[in-house]
Amino acid sequence: MTFQSLGLADELLKAIEQTGYTTPTPVQQQAIPAAIAGSDLLVSSHTGSGKTAAFTLPSLHKIIDRRPAPGAGPRVLVLTPTRELAQQVEKAVQTYGKALRWLNTACLVGGAPMFAQVKQLQRQCDVVVATPGRLLDHLNRRKIKLSDVEVLILDEADRMLDMGFAEDIDAIVAATPAKRQTLLFSATLDGVVGNMAARMTRNPQRIEIEVAQQDRGQIEQRLMFADDLGHKSRLLHALLGEDGMNQAVVFTATKKSADELSLSLQEKGIAAAALHGDMHQTQRNRTLDRLRQGRIGVLVATDVAARGIDVAGISHVINFDPPRQAEDYVHRIGRTGRAGRDGIAITLSGPRETGLIRAIERFTGDRLAVHTIAGMEPSPRKPSGPRPAGAGNGGRRFGNGGGYGRPGGDSRRNAGGYSRDGHPTRSERSHGDRRDRGSRG
Ligand code: AMP
Repeated sequence: MTFQSLGLADELLKAIEQTGYTTPTPVQQQAIPAAIAGSDLLVSSHTGSGKTAAFTLPSLHKIIDRRPAPGAGPRVLVLTPTRELAQQVEKAVQTYGKALRWLNTACLVGGAPMFAQVKQLQRQCDVVVATPGRLLDHLNRRKIKLSDVEVLILDEADRMLDMGFAEDIDAIVAATPAKRQTLLFSATLDGVVGNMAARMTRNPQRIEIEVAQQDRGQIEQRLMFADDLGHKSRLLHALLGEDGMNQAVVFTATKKSADELSLSLQEKGIAAAALHGDMHQTQRNRTLDRLRQGRIGVLVATDVAARGIDVAGISHVINFDPPRQAEDYVHRIGRTGRAGRDGIAITLSGPRETGLIRAIERFTGDRLAVHTIAGMEPSPRKPSGPRPAGAGNGGRRFGNGGGYGRPGGDSRRNAGGYSRDGHPTRSERSHGDRRDRGSRG
């Protein structure tokens, strides 16, 4: 299938050609024609699937016959959970809308000065990309009107709900016309997302994109056991010096530990920088620019701040602290293996973190392969519980080391293993316990 067959305007096809993409991804193949036909959409797709273009292209197609009206509000509104994602979406809109010389965009995110955004809104903005909190601020101050919105896009809707944006989103949606088209993208369409979708869409077409096996295979997932924090630090240092390491994103559980770890890496002469929600937006932008330019080798980040980062040079993701929610694991490792390149995701687990590892394996249906570094093996220790025996080749290639990184292949423990699609239901996951309020729009 080609982009030409999707029914997109020539101006957009020209811009796609310039990006070098020749074949639409599965989500683009399904979502673009359906959106052009005018349907509301509920799309379950993951980062890396090409979802941004899947909603940007048909939205630009819809407004391609510009009808400038003095004082009109935006015709396309995109809501995203984080500032970084909003900025990336705006960039994508500008890339795909390059041939539309009249196209004005605005990115309304928290942490950036209000007045500059207000000034931007004083000229006509065709497309607005925003985080819910900041957009609601502008709406309440009557700096923006949403009565001209023709397409409303909710990107990563599940994450916006997780971050506590439900009420803000309701207020924003209430300010848009009922006859708008709504495109909702989310990793999952069940539970609270499903409820929100039912409220906000009309006869939606449901598109569910399976993560293709070959796409998943691009990221090699490893697990390393550590005795304590000092052991984790030594492992991290060794990993950062390994062949094939280009750029890495290292995840920590808290903003404070991101700062501390980044500082300690800098002290060892490593070009590291922290990224988290307590940093000022200009500082965050500067850090991301330096990462893109390759001037930062190691980004030490928290979940919310790093979400959506799309830098092709990221060869490794290292979970210094395993994610507290299994779902975050998928988002974290998706920072590598970008643009069709291979990536390696390594999770370091301390003695008290094996439960988190089990949750990840249950969520992904994959068994993480246990790796060790010669001379830095974990000390022998009894596991806190059996690791689930599921798919994957956990530890087969590596010595068992006798640590609590018990190698896989213990068929006696296979009973009750996790199925590939054994995702927990939403109610099983904890909510609201890791709201990164500092990153709210
Ligand atoms: P997304 O899922 O929107 O974050 O996109 C993931 C990555 O795929 C981004 O780097 C996009 O630029 C890239 N991409 C989007 N569409 C295509 C395509 N049709 N072919 C190849 N790469 C694409």
